[in-house]
Amino acid sequence: MDCAHHFVGDKLFEVDAPNAKQFVVDLGKKTCGCRQWEMIGIPCAHAVCAILFDCGDLEDYVDEYYSLERYKKVYAPLIYPMPSEEQWVRTEGHDILEPPRARVAPGRPRKLRRRSPDDS
Ligand SMILES: [Zn+2]
Repeated sequence: MDCAHHFVGDKLFEVDAPNAKQFVVDLGKKTCGCRQWEMIGIPCAHAVCAILFDCGDLEDYVDEYYSLERYKKVYAPLIYPMPSEEQWVRTEGHDILEPPRARVAPGRPRKLRRRSPDDS
């Protein structure tokens, strides 16, 4: 992404996105005004601009959730083996049925999406 950035100080940046919006990126808190970074744990394009300007390593700013250590910790407990279907214990309750058939609504399908009032 082509963006302009302004170093404000103390790991704080103002990043100008091509869509004429400005976002405040705080590398210390690992946040961006677009909130994508906080939501998925991976730096957004605005944060990447700031990190590269700061000569930082992008991997240092990715959430620990995506680390190899976390992956190993998740799968460390024993995963029990599964017997074949004939050996399964029958439980009380209803059988799981097939999903209902998808119904096609009458008329021709809409070709254009509905635009929100905010769309230009
Ligand atoms: Zn952002």
